[in-house]
Amino acid sequence: MRTQAEMHELSVANSLAEQLLKLLKDNGGGRVVSALISIGELGCVNRDSLKFSFEIVNKDTVLETCRLEFLNVPAKLKCHSCCFVFEGMQREKCPVCDCENFFVISGKEVVLERVEIEK
Ligand SMILES: [Zn+2]
Repeated sequence: MRTQAEMHELSVANSLAEQLLKLLKDNGGGRVVSALISIGELGCVNRDSLKFSFEIVNKDTVLETCRLEFLNVPAKLKCHSCCFVFEGMQREKCPVCDCENFFVISGKEVVLERVEIEK
């Protein structure tokens, strides 16, 4: 289980590094000071593990000094009965009609929100 989790974070770190390198290229070079990453609460991403993976992936590269910052994003749920959209996995019922059936609209994403680039 632990190994799987780390594999997951490693692939997330790889994908983030690719996006950042592309941004740098489009920007005409420079250095990424920090990157803000939003993590859906259902994304099963361990932040420490992601930071660690990111360091490994980017060792001795231009991204080595990039600082990762994280933002928690609550899951978005939609009620089956009344279609009301609400946030947060800790809820057990729709706040409008008390229906206990709802489906997940979002909450698993790992998204690069903001990047600070220094020339
Ligand atoms: Zn409802």
